Amino acid sequence: MNPHGEKVGYMINIENPEINFALNAVRQAALLVHLIQREMISPALTKEDRSPVTVADFASQALVAYLLQQIFPDDMLVAEEDATELRANQHTLEKVTGFVRHQIPNATHESVCDWIDLGNGSIGSRFWTLDPIDGTKGFLRGDQYAVALALIIDGEAQVAALGCPNLSDAYRLDPGGPGSLVITGRDQGSWTTELDNPKSFQRLRVSSVSDPSQARILRSFESGHTNVGQIDHFATAMGVQAEPVRLDSQAKYAVLAAGKGDLLLRLLSAQRPDYREKIWDQAAGSLVLEEAGGKISDLGGKPLDFTTGRSLTSNRGILASNTLLHSAALRALGEIGA
Ligand code: AMP
Ligand code: MG
Repeated sequence: MNPHGEKVGYMINIENPEINFALNAVRQAALLVHLIQREMISPALTKEDRSPVTVADFASQALVAYLLQQIFPDDMLVAEEDATELRANQHTLEKVTGFVRHQIPNATHESVCDWIDLGNGSIGSRFWTLDPIDGTKGFLRGDQYAVALALIIDGEAQVAALGCPNLSDAYRLDPGGPGSLVITGRDQGSWTTELDNPKSFQRLRVSSVSDPSQARILRSFESGHTNVGQIDHFATAMGVQAEPVRLDSQAKYAVLAAGKGDLLLRLLSAQRPDYREKIWDQAAGSLVLEEAGGKISDLGGKPLDFTTGRSLTSNRGILASNTLLHSAALRALGEIGA
């Protein structure tokens, strides 16, 4: 046993069919979107041109849906994109199909659209949820983004994977590095390996910071996805000294799971007080965090409820932590009225 009470030499079972599928599908999709990022994003690209992320989003979803259909043909997929607009846009469809053919040589325009539409699956007792690119703005900026996939059974995430091409060792911001693949299964811990070359796996553990003044807060890079003024009030209420770290996507959960951050806040923006989180934005990251010893709830302390549809309609915002700081953070959120 090590100091955390875990069996030494223990390793996640990557031969388990669901874990094996999640690992391979997310790895292939993350490598493909990374290739698209390198090939399509150039200094000549204007700020308004979102075509690289559009192509990468569709290609990633087509590939994961195709692989799911091969391995688990009866399983439902609930994913962010659908192919309605793509079917009418020949130019984009050609690009998407071209990239999908890197992995599936016989892909056609029609089959690519059909695979993408497998993501319209229904939410039942067992389904997968996919964000083909979480953090699209980070992708376009050359910062952080993630491919995020989770298996949900009876409302609980059971298996999850995050593919983060611009993150090394699950926490270092390292565009051009080997990238991180994070894989987890319930009661099996969270583990990371190199996306480029998945050989050895390291176990992830949350930090042991229990003094609120020492907490490192992780927040969205995009100010419109959170409430920056309230985060400042929260930091003051907790006595936090360091500036919050801005990071796109569920890469934040990998960093928290790796013990390199202590609190993650998704506060409701003043422009969108009615915003409810999408399940594909939280399912994979939440299991990665819990299996590393962390805790996740909404801003009122309620557990996330993945049975309510494509959005978490019974939950408001997100608080995630290393567990030790959770109660103090909930109290501070109550004090500032978040
Ligand atoms: P992040 O980079 O952590 O902000 O996460 C990116 C995700 O935020 C995207 O996948 C969107 O689904 C989601 N998002 C979009 N608009 C909002 C909003 N107004 N409030 C919170 N999250 C949002
Ligand atoms: Mg997303």
